[in-house]
Amino acid sequence: SMNLKRSIITKSHVKRILPERKKDSHKKTFGTLLVIAGSRQYLGAPILTCLGALRIGCGYVRLLSCEEVGRLAVGREPGLVFTSIDGDSFSLKELDLALELAQESDAIVLGPGLTNREHVCEFVMNFLMQIDKPVLIDADGLNCISKNVDVLNSVRAPVIITPHPGEFARLVKQPTEQVKYNYLLAERFALDHNVIVVLKGATTIVTDGKNTYYNLVGNTSLAKAGSGDVLSGVIGGFLAQGVAPTEACVLGVYVHGLASEKYSMREGTMLVSELVDLIPYAVEEVA
Ligand code: AMP
Ligand code: MG
Repeated sequence: SMNLKRSIITKSHVKRILPERKKDSHKKTFGTLLVIAGSRQYLGAPILTCLGALRIGCGYVRLLSCEEVGRLAVGREPGLVFTSIDGDSFSLKELDLALELAQESDAIVLGPGLTNREHVCEFVMNFLMQIDKPVLIDADGLNCISKNVDVLNSVRAPVIITPHPGEFARLVKQPTEQVKYNYLLAERFALDHNVIVVLKGATTIVTDGKNTYYNLVGNTSLAKAGSGDVLSGVIGGFLAQGVAPTEACVLGVYVHGLASEKYSMREGTMLVSELVDLIPYAVEEVA
């Protein structure tokens, strides 16, 4: 399109859009994020998402997951507010509870560690059609909607999707090798489905179909299971604080990448739990 702008994310850009921390504030000032994630099969992903959100300054992080996840999550960080579902994974019987919590939240992250079993996907689709809060869909949330991508057009609030190339390939029904770093495809998908696409990789592409941003910050320490779950929380945490969706993504991918560069030892030896604890140093550099 004629007015499409493409640029590399710079530190000065990030400094300009980082939300301020007003002195006259309280926890709700810094937003409530609802994280809908996890299953008995994936206990760690939701915890990483919640920690990512807390580390960038979200005031109230609420986790809806199974009991096993909750015990571990609150054990790692007692500041998390946990609500338990009935079984080992989500199904339609959690819909009312989830919608009630969504009503009380400023933003939602949906997907990490959910599994894409049929009853989980039924929950995901119905939930998306009924919410009216900004939502970030990641991981199994994306795998669920790839069966019916048009659900995106019927969400009544801003939507962010954060696929890695494998997940984006499933969404657009093309081979992974063709979708990798394919900013044209990401831009088209953003326009067609009225979403913001964060197409992850060694270079990450953020696009809302009008503006496209490249993130070059971050290293191969991030090529490790769980690092994407942290990113979902970081972006979700900015969203909950009222940052505009595209800016939340720009801030998120940059801060997440920069955190990996704060690790002082050999690239690749960093744990994802250590990435979480390096986020404050990245924020400090852009504050
Ligand atoms: P996921 O595959 O969902 O766990 O997400 C992986 C995260 O790590 C994304 O934010 C990627 O951009 C990032 N990442 C993976 N590999 C690299 C790499 N080689 N260099 C920089 N960032 C990477
Ligand atoms: Mg992932």
